[in-house]
Amino acid sequence: MSPPLVTLNNLEVHFPVGKRLLGPAPVVRAVDGVSIRIMPGQFYGLVGESGSGKTTLGRAILRAVPIAAGSGTWEDSEVHYDLHRMTPAETKDFRRRAQLIFQDPYAALSPRMTVRDIIAEPLEVMGLTGSRQETDERVREIAAKCRLNLEHLRRFPHAFSGGQRQRISIARALVCSPRFLIADESVAALDVSIQADILNLLKSLQNDLGLTFLFISHDLSVVAHTCDVVSVMYLGTLVETAPTRRLFTAPRHPYTQALLSAIPSLDPDDRGRAQRLSGEIPSPINPPSGCRFHPRCPHAAPVCTEKIPLPEPADDEHHTVACHRFRELERRGALLERTRVRKLDAKA
Ligand code: SF4
Repeated sequence: MSPPLVTLNNLEVHFPVGKRLLGPAPVVRAVDGVSIRIMPGQFYGLVGESGSGKTTLGRAILRAVPIAAGSGTWEDSEVHYDLHRMTPAETKDFRRRAQLIFQDPYAALSPRMTVRDIIAEPLEVMGLTGSRQETDERVREIAAKCRLNLEHLRRFPHAFSGGQRQRISIARALVCSPRFLIADESVAALDVSIQADILNLLKSLQNDLGLTFLFISHDLSVVAHTCDVVSVMYLGTLVETAPTRRLFTAPRHPYTQALLSAIPSLDPDDRGRAQRLSGEIPSPINPPSGCRFHPRCPHAAPVCTEKIPLPEPADDEHHTVACHRFRELERRGALLERTRVRKLDAKA
C-alpha cells in the first residue's frame, strides 16, 4: 500500500489574542492536537460547525498559518517535506503541489483581469511559464478540462455566473498540475443545481488527473455525496473519523449523531427527530476541560469533565471515536438509533 500523501500528528495552531498581563498571553486554540492521514487519490471530507477550526486546519496544511506544535509531512513520489520546517524554496515547490479552491467565486477573481490572465497567473508566480504560445496552450487545455469555452478566456469575471466563476477558480488551481487540492466550502455560495455540477466536475477531475482532495464543508449532504472518508471536527479537535458510508450509517460519537440527525429530510416520519444541542460552541480561548463537547453533551458524566478523550478504534483502525462512553452508551442503547441514511437504505 502506498504511504499517506499528507500526515498530521498532534498538530496545533494557536493565535495570540490580547496582551500578556500576568502569566502567558491568551491564545485561541484553533486547532488542538489533530492527527490525520490522507491517502493518495482520496476525497477526504472535513465537517463541523462554524468556528470548529476546519479552515484553519486546511490553511495549516498549506503553511498559510504558523504551526504551533505537532508535526506534518508530505510524501509523494518525488519529495518528502516536513510541513513544520520548510525552506522558502521548499514552500514554493510545495505550493505548486498543493492548491486551494476558495469559497466565494465572486471575491476570488480579480475583476480587472481576463479569464486567460487569471488562469495563467499561478504559472507566472511559480516561474513555470514558457513562451506565450506554451502558456496559452496550457491555459486552453486546463480550461477545456474545467468545461470552459475558449471564447470565455477573453472575457472578464463579471460576465459569468457563480458556477462558471467557480470553474474558473478550479482551472486556476489546476494550472500548475497540483496533486492535492483543498476545497474550502467551495460549493457553499452556489445554488443547489450548480453545486451538483461543480461536485461532479471535482469528482471527474479527481479520476482523470489522479487528484487528492481535502473537502471542507458544513453541509453533510454534500459530504455524503462526495467523500470517501470523513472526519468530524469540534472546537479544534477531531471527534470521529470513518469511511463515509460507515459514518453516515453508524455514527458513534454523540456530536456526530446530533449533526446527522439535523440533516433536513423530506420524509414526514423524520420530522421532529433532530437532536437539539443546547448552547453555543464554547470559546476556543478557554475551552471546556476534559471532553470539549461535555457542556452540550446529553450523555456527559464526571469522567468527561476531567479527562480528555483520545481517538480510539471503534470497529477497526479506519473508524476512530474520541468519547469515553461510546461503547457503554451503545450497549445501553442510549445513542440515537441509526440515521436517516440507514433508513433510506432499508427502504431501498
Ligand atoms: Fe459526551 Fe462524555 Fe463522550 Fe464527551 S466523552 S461526547 S461528554 S459522553
